[in-house]
Amino acid sequence: MNTDELREKYLSFFQSKGCHRQGSDVLVPTWDPSVLFTPAGMNQFKDHFLGKVKLDFTKATTCQKCLRTGDIDNVGRTAYHHTFFEMLGNFSFGDYFKEEAIHWAWEFLTDKKWLAIDPNRLTVTVYKEDEEAAGIWNEKIGLPTNRIARLEEDENFWPASAPSQGPDGVCGPCSEIYFQLDNGKTVEIWNLVFTQFNRVGNPPDNLRPLPSKNIDTGMGLERTASVLQGVPSNFHIDILFPIVKAAAEVCGVKYEYDSDAGRRLRRITDHVRACTFAIHENVYPGPKKARYVIKRLLRRAVLDGHQLGLRDPFLYQLVPVVAQMMKGPYPELGDTIERVQSVMKREEADFLSTLDGGLERIQRMFSEMDSSSKVMVDGREAASLYQTYGVPPELLQALATERNFTFDWDSYRVAMDEHGEVSGDDQKQLFKTGPIETLKEAVQKSDFLGYEATTSKAVIKGIILGQPKEDSLVGSLKASTAKNTMVRIVLDRTPFYGESGGQVGDKGTIQGEGFVFQVTDTQRAGDLVVHVGTLLSGEVKAGAVAEAIVDTSNRDAIRRAHSATHILHHALQTTLGGHAQQQGSKVDRDWLRFDFSNQESLTEDQLKKIEEITNSCIEQKAPVSWKLVTLADARKEGAMMLFGEKYPDPVRMVTMGEFSRELCGGTHLDNTQQVQTLEILSEESVSAGTRRITALTGSRAAEHRSMVEKVVHDASSLLGCSAETLAETAGNLVTAIRKLKKMTSGTGTEAAPEKVGKQNASPKPTGSYSGSYSLARNALRQVSRAINVPMEEVGKRIQSLLSDQDAMHHQLSNTATGSTITVEDLLNMSEMVGDVRLIVAETPGANPSIMRQWIDQLRKDAETPVAVLLGSKLDADKVTLIAAISPALVARKLNAGKWIGPVAAVVGGGGGGKPDVAQAGGKDPEKLTEALATAKQTFMDMMKF
Ligand code: ATP
Ligand code: MG
Repeated sequence: MNTDELREKYLSFFQSKGCHRQGSDVLVPTWDPSVLFTPAGMNQFKDHFLGKVKLDFTKATTCQKCLRTGDIDNVGRTAYHHTFFEMLGNFSFGDYFKEEAIHWAWEFLTDKKWLAIDPNRLTVTVYKEDEEAAGIWNEKIGLPTNRIARLEEDENFWPASAPSQGPDGVCGPCSEIYFQLDNGKTVEIWNLVFTQFNRVGNPPDNLRPLPSKNIDTGMGLERTASVLQGVPSNFHIDILFPIVKAAAEVCGVKYEYDSDAGRRLRRITDHVRACTFAIHENVYPGPKKARYVIKRLLRRAVLDGHQLGLRDPFLYQLVPVVAQMMKGPYPELGDTIERVQSVMKREEADFLSTLDGGLERIQRMFSEMDSSSKVMVDGREAASLYQTYGVPPELLQALATERNFTFDWDSYRVAMDEHGEVSGDDQKQLFKTGPIETLKEAVQKSDFLGYEATTSKAVIKGIILGQPKEDSLVGSLKASTAKNTMVRIVLDRTPFYGESGGQVGDKGTIQGEGFVFQVTDTQRAGDLVVHVGTLLSGEVKAGAVAEAIVDTSNRDAIRRAHSATHILHHALQTTLGGHAQQQGSKVDRDWLRFDFSNQESLTEDQLKKIEEITNSCIEQKAPVSWKLVTLADARKEGAMMLFGEKYPDPVRMVTMGEFSRELCGGTHLDNTQQVQTLEILSEESVSAGTRRITALTGSRAAEHRSMVEKVVHDASSLLGCSAETLAETAGNLVTAIRKLKKMTSGTGTEAAPEKVGKQNASPKPTGSYSGSYSLARNALRQVSRAINVPMEEVGKRIQSLLSDQDAMHHQLSNTATGSTITVEDLLNMSEMVGDVRLIVAETPGANPSIMRQWIDQLRKDAETPVAVLLGSKLDADKVTLIAAISPALVARKLNAGKWIGPVAAVVGGGGGGKPDVAQAGGKDPEKLTEALATAKQTFMDMMKF
C-alpha cells in the first residue's frame, strides 16, 4: 500500500466513525507561544480539549505536519525517526472514549478492508494501573496477556510521569501499539492517549476523574507505511526513497544502508524535506526561534554534503523532488519551489563560504583538547565559532560527540549573553505570578468598546503601583504617594486600545471624583486592558466609577497609519506576488513599519508601482468596514490569512473597497481617503528574505513632503542647479572635494578642480520647490544616497561641503601665493618683447607643482608665444626657479634650460631641463629680485640672436 493511500484510508476510516475531517494545521503555529513547531496532531485542538472554545464537532481526524527538534540526533541513525513527519490522529472532545478508541484502532490495523496487518505481529503497552485498558485489550480484543506490557508512568502516561511529578492539570494514561519486525524487534506505530484525569497536587489521591474525557491518538504515517511496505526503514518508503536516491545522485555517491554515506543521505533527505515545508511557510533560516531551527537543519545537511565532498550549494536541487513526492496532500508546495530554492541556495552558499575555515579551526581545537587531555568543548570557543564561521553550536556538539567530547552549554550561554546575542530555542517562562496574574483571575476580561466609542464610564477594577517585578496591587492610591512612579489601572470596560497586532496602545485620560490619571500607554495582558501612566492629582480608589477618555487626535493618527498598512499590503501583493506576506508590523501615530517576505530589495520601478497603487486606493475614497464572520466565511470571502496565525472564530474581518480583506483587530478609518497621504520613507532589509518598509501618513507625511521640497529648493539654489541635475551636481561637488583634499595634503598632481556651486549663494529659508513633487523626492533620494546623509540633512551637508570647498581653495591659493596671486595677476605683470609675452615674477610661497600648473595655464591661455620664469622662496635658504617657453619659441631655437642657467647662478645654484621647461634651485633667497632682473635681461639678449 503506498503512503498516499494509507493517509487517505486512515482519514476515511475515522470519517466513517463520525469524525470530522480537519485539515493539517500549519507547521509553525505562531499563535502558540509554547512550541516552535507543531509537535503532534493534538496541538491544534489544545483549546478544544480544555473546553475553551465552542465546539462545532466533538470527534475529529487529521493528518498533521509535525516537526520535532528533540529527535534531530536520531535522524539517519535510527530507522524510524524524522524531524519532519506526518502524524495521523483521531480525537474525541468529551465524545467517544477508551473502548471505542481501542476497538477502532484494532479494526483499522487488522481488518481485511483496511490495513489487514497480521494480528500476531501486534503487541501493546498500557499504564500499569490502567486496568480498564488492559481489560479491553485482553477480554474484548482477545489479545493474550503476554502481549500486553504494563509500563510505568514515565513510559505510559501523558504528560510523562505526571502523577508523581506534575504538572497539575489535565493528564491521562496511554496505550501504545507496536509492530513486530521480521528480525524480532518492535517499532511503535501508534499511541492512544486517554485524557481522563485532572491532577491536583502531589500523590496520593491526586488524580480526579474529569467530567468530560478526551481521546488523543497519534499514528506515525511513515512508520506505518514502512511496516506495510516491508522496507527496512522509513526512508525506504515510496514517498521518501526517491528523495534519498536524488540526494545520492546530487552528491555523487552510492546509497548503502549501513555506510556512513547512507546515514548522511538519510539525514539530508529528512532535513531538506523539513526545510522545504518550513521555508514554504515563510520561515527562513535566521538567528532565533523557529528560524534558527531551520538554519541548524539546513547547515547540518550542508555539512553532510560537505563531508561527502561537495563544495557548492546542492540541497536546493532536491526541493522539486520533495514537492513532487508530497504533492498529493500538499499541492501548494509546487507553487513555491523557486522561492524555497533561492532561500535555500543562499543559506547554503553563506555557510559554505565559511565552513572550511570553521572546520579547520574545529580540527585544531580538537587536537589541542586531545593533547591537553580536555574532554569538554569550551563554550566560549563555540560561541566564537558560531559568530565567526556560522557553525551552529548544536552542529559543533554533534561533531564533538563523534570524538566523545562533551559540550559546555553553560559557558556557551554566558559567552553569547556577553555578546548580547541569544540563539537557539528561547526558553519560555511557563508560570508567572504577580498583580497582573491575580487580576487576570479576578477580573478575567476588560470589555473593549473602542471600535465604536472613544469615551466611556467604567469601574476601576485594579490599581497596580510600581514597575513590573517590583509592583503591587493597591486598593487606593494618592497622587502624593505615587509621585512619579509608574501606575497601571484596569477597568471593567474601556475604549482604550491595548497594544496588539502591531498597533500601539492609546493615550488619554482616566478621571473621576477628585482624581486625574494620565494614560501614556495602553497594553494588553491576556484579555485584560492595562492603562499605563501617571496619577496627576487626587486619590484613585478601586471600585470607583471613572470616565475613560481616549486622546482622539492621537487615535486618528494611529487609525490612518493602520488603514494605510492594509493598503500597502495590498499594493505589495499586487506588485510582488502572493509571497510578499506580512511578517510583522508596527503602527504608531501617522507612522508605520511593515515587514514582508521578499528576497531582493525593491527596484525603483516596483516602488513606483507600489506608490501608484497606494495613491489610487487612497484617492478612490473606498469605504472601510468591518464585521465579525466565521473563519470559514472569511476564507470563502478571500480574506488574507497569514501562515501560522491562529485566528479566533468568529473573527473580525476588515474590508476596504474591493481590494482588501484582512483579519484584523485594529482600529481603522471610515474611508481610505482619510489616510490623506502615504509617503514611503525607506525600504531596507531586516533579515534574509525579509524586507521592511517605513512610511508616514496624514500630517506627518505632509510635513515630510514640505521638508523634501524645501531641502530640494535649498540644495539646488546652493548648488546653482535645477532639481533634475541636483544629484549629479552634488556628486561633482563630492568628487571636487576629494581632489581638493588630495591637493591640500600635497599628494595631488592635477590642477585644482573648478569650484562647484553658485558662488556666494545663500538659500532663501522659506523657499519651496515648485516643480513636481515626485521629481523633487527622487532627486533628494539620490542625493541623500550620493552624499550619504538622511534626506532632511542634505541641505545642511551641502552647505558644509561648499564651505569646505571654499576653505580648501583658499588654502591652496595661500600655499601658492601667500597673497591672492592668480594667473590673471601674472598676465597683468607681463610685457611684450617683440611678439613674445614675457612673464617674469616672484610667486611667494608657491611650491613647484603649483608653479608648473600656472605655467601650463599661461602657455595654454596665451594667443602669442610666451616665455615665463617664476621664482619662489620656499624656505629661508631655498629658492625655486622654473622657466618655460612656448613650442613656437623652441622652434626658433630658444632654450629654457639655457635661459635659467645664468639666473640660477645669481641665487647660488644651478639646474637645467628640456628646451621648453627647466627647473633650478638656489640657496640664496635674498638675491631673488636680482636674479629676476637678470632673467629679463637674459631673455631679451636671447631674443636678439
Ligand atoms: P518514539 O518513542 O519512538 O520517539 P514517541 O513516543 O515520541 O515515539 P509519540 O509522541 O507518542 O511518539 O507520537 C505518536 C506517533 O508518532 C508514534 O507512535 C510514532 O509512530 C510517530 N512518531 C513520533 N516521533 C516520530 C519521529 N521523530 N519520526 C517519525 N515518526 C514519529
Ligand atoms: Mg519521541
